[in-house]
Amino acid sequence: MTLSELNKFEYLSPPLKKNKLRPKRMANTKAIFDFPMLLNINIVASIIIVSIREIIMINLSSFSSYFIANWKLNGDFKFIDQFVEKLRVPEDSSKCTVICPTSIHLEYLSRKAKKFFLGAQNVSQYTNGAYTGEISSHSLNELNIDFCIVGHSERRQIFNENNNDVNEKSSQLIKNQIIPIICIGESLDDRKNNKTNERLTKQIKEGLPENSNSDNTIIAYEPIWAIGSGLTPTLEEINQTHNFIKNHEVRLNNYKILYGGSVKPDNAKEIVSLSNVDGLLIGGASLKYDDFQKIIKY
Ligand code: PEP
Repeated sequence: MTLSELNKFEYLSPPLKKNKLRPKRMANTKAIFDFPMLLNINIVASIIIVSIREIIMINLSSFSSYFIANWKLNGDFKFIDQFVEKLRVPEDSSKCTVICPTSIHLEYLSRKAKKFFLGAQNVSQYTNGAYTGEISSHSLNELNIDFCIVGHSERRQIFNENNNDVNEKSSQLIKNQIIPIICIGESLDDRKNNKTNERLTKQIKEGLPENSNSDNTIIAYEPIWAIGSGLTPTLEEINQTHNFIKNHEVRLNNYKILYGGSVKPDNAKEIVSLSNVDGLLIGGASLKYDDFQKIIKY
């Protein structure tokens, strides 16, 4: 027997290796369970499941509305335990509920996720390497994270992220089968100077990567002045702006566009019912269990 022939049996356990010169006898064995075969079937099944996970993204068109909770830098294990214990996600499978906790809590929450999906709040634009403190899209994929918020105004304002960063981060996410939720929105100054559409156009043009399309990307319209302020645009303004985003470029026609900015139980129903609104991105109210529970019912 040559060395290469011998190596073919390397995967067998020691007792079976003893039988390597008698394959027929092995085949004739009347065992109820053929453990090597079962082992192989299990291995193949696991490889198939992992591979499917790696090539399949959430099917965005299968949901009619999205409710994304942005917990920002809030929450701890106790909070998560209490929140998830009480949370009742609607049975209606056309509604997609996503919770975005801090990165450190993603894994913990993933063990509890039943009817909701998980999202990160940020990701690195780099694949790997000497980037201390960063978290890669690949690591998020390994944790089975399906969504990631990108370009939130807090990241743009406090951490100086620009449209180019948003573009690169989103591209990395898409390559790793994670849906970027790309945030765009005008400042109060933009609005006062009638520059809302100009600002949004620039953010879309520069921030949307080439590999983005309506099957792999969500856009969230969040007027900066509405975030955490208790102020919102009128319903008509929200609908018009969403209409502008969907229609100013053909490729954006089928994108899901969410609204974010001071969504509360008492305005959520009206906003999410607007014809051009495909869901809500919720900050403060998503941390209050009773409020969030009411909002995800609409
Ligand atoms: C947000 O931070 O994305 C957000 C929408 O916050 P809030 O709902 O608190 O305005």
